[in-house]
Amino acid sequence: MLHGASSEFLAELEALGRDATLLPDWPWRVRGTGVPCQPQAYRIESTRVAVAQGVNALPKLLARDLDIRRNTNVLSLALDGGSLHVTSAAGTESARTVVLTCPVDQTRALLQPLAAHCAEIRSILGLLAGVFTLPSLTVLAGYEPRRDDDWHLQLPGPDSILHSVIHDSSKRPGPATVLVIQSRSSFSRPRLESDPASWSDQVLDAAADLLGPWVRNPTWVQNHRWRYARVQRGHELAHPILVTLPGGARIGLCGDAFHPEGGVEGAFLSGVALGRRLSAIPV
Ligand SMILES: Cc1cc2nc3c(=O)[nH]c(=O)nc-3n(C[C@H](O)[C@H](O)[C@H](O)COP(=O)(O)OP(=O)(O)OC[C@H]3O[C@@H](n4cnc5c(N)ncnc54)[C@H](O)[C@@H]3O)c2cc1C
Repeated sequence: MLHGASSEFLAELEALGRDATLLPDWPWRVRGTGVPCQPQAYRIESTRVAVAQGVNALPKLLARDLDIRRNTNVLSLALDGGSLHVTSAAGTESARTVVLTCPVDQTRALLQPLAAHCAEIRSILGLLAGVFTLPSLTVLAGYEPRRDDDWHLQLPGPDSILHSVIHDSSKRPGPATVLVIQSRSSFSRPRLESDPASWSDQVLDAAADLLGPWVRNPTWVQNHRWRYARVQRGHELAHPILVTLPGGARIGLCGDAFHPEGGVEGAFLSGVALGRRLSAIPV
């Protein structure tokens, strides 16, 4: 689901609506007393939509004119005078300005080797130390189509190992009922390194307790280990970061941890703010 209240983000949602099918106000059939992962989505001033084509339709729209190399894991960053060297399995490239948009834990890992000789990086790492991310072991499960599902989102509350169950197929007509079953971080964290076979059935069992025994018999299952599923609400920093290092190279940081709104809107707004700062301060 996408949601926002800022005019800039809402303009992008409107543009998205020209190509994609948006379901206004989804989810409106919410069951249970748990707290949603993005409570701000339900504020009166927020616009909330589901995207029938999937939530990644928005980043695809935003990235339409960009040269993007996907599936390229950055292994290290090194500072060399006025340049930053970015190394991946495909080789090393150099730039005067590098922007990191990874989850903060992965940003910390990339910045750590630069800290020994750079006070600016030590300051950033100090700030990032206060930002906690939450993992979520999640099961996507498909079933024969069901006609008795009149809900969009289940929020079972603190007594369940589940944080939420999303009725994904309620967003788009299709040949199957599809559930996205997200476990709580307290369940997920101690099992992050375990074989999915050891937790997948527990997650399905908890969903069956909520919805009925049919949930235990999916036609297909995908297990996802979301190591950094989301930023703990309230831990977001106020704005993106841009530092100039000795020698003149610059590192920028943005993403959902760098705007108080959090979530997709926060990630978008932090990127817009960082882009403005970068273009206002020429290298
Ligand atoms: C199941 C689930 C449901 C959610 N529902 C909502 C919702 O309804 N509404 C909402 O607003 N938000 C929701 N969120 C949160 C939302 O997905 C995030 O807030 C948002 O994706 C953050 O965007 P981002 O660009 O900051 O980071 P991300 O989307 O996490 O992108 C970071 C990228 O960096 C890449 N990366 C990391 N390390 C490296 C490296 N070393 N080299 C190269 N690339 C790297 C990662 O692969 C990833 O693609 C949900 C999250 C989950 C997991």
